[in-house]
Amino acid sequence: MIVLRVLKSHSKRRLRVKKIGIVICGRYQTCGGGKCLRAMRERVGGFVRYPKNEELSLVGYSFCGGCPGGNVEYVPEEMKKNGAEVIHLATGLVVGYPPCPRIRAFKSFIESFYGMEVVIGTHPIPLKYLKAHEALDFWKTMNMAEIAGGLMEEDRSIMKAYD
Ligand code: SF4
Repeated sequence: MIVLRVLKSHSKRRLRVKKIGIVICGRYQTCGGGKCLRAMRERVGGFVRYPKNEELSLVGYSFCGGCPGGNVEYVPEEMKKNGAEVIHLATGLVVGYPPCPRIRAFKSFIESFYGMEVVIGTHPIPLKYLKAHEALDFWKTMNMAEIAGGLMEEDRSIMKAYD
């Protein structure tokens, strides 16, 4: 009986899986997702929020469709049908030149229409991108820190490792 209980609790621990969909910026539509997948493994960037004992499963990966982002209207549905609980808008939307002007609308729409949580960011901001942005006026006026604050607070050595 005790053995059975232990087995059950172990299998419950193993079964903690968070299903994730990623939407990237159309400007990087040919990207193979290397940095996003690495960050999922390393639990950095937008994935630092998940406990290490929680398995992450990528159930969808696509791009916005290119400006103005028409695929954001449709692709979360496919991800949701595949079990996605959280949609990550990729770091490329934050650090493009300029950042995506529709990023706040995408987050609001997906959360309201599909009822899924939206997290801004996937991999850490590469340090060279952060430095370039800090010298640009639109970085301040678009106030990316307001919606992607966690990415800005990342340890600089981790950002450097993603250059
Ligand atoms: S800037 Fe925004 S709308 Fe345009 S391609 Fe990138 S994510 Fe899509």
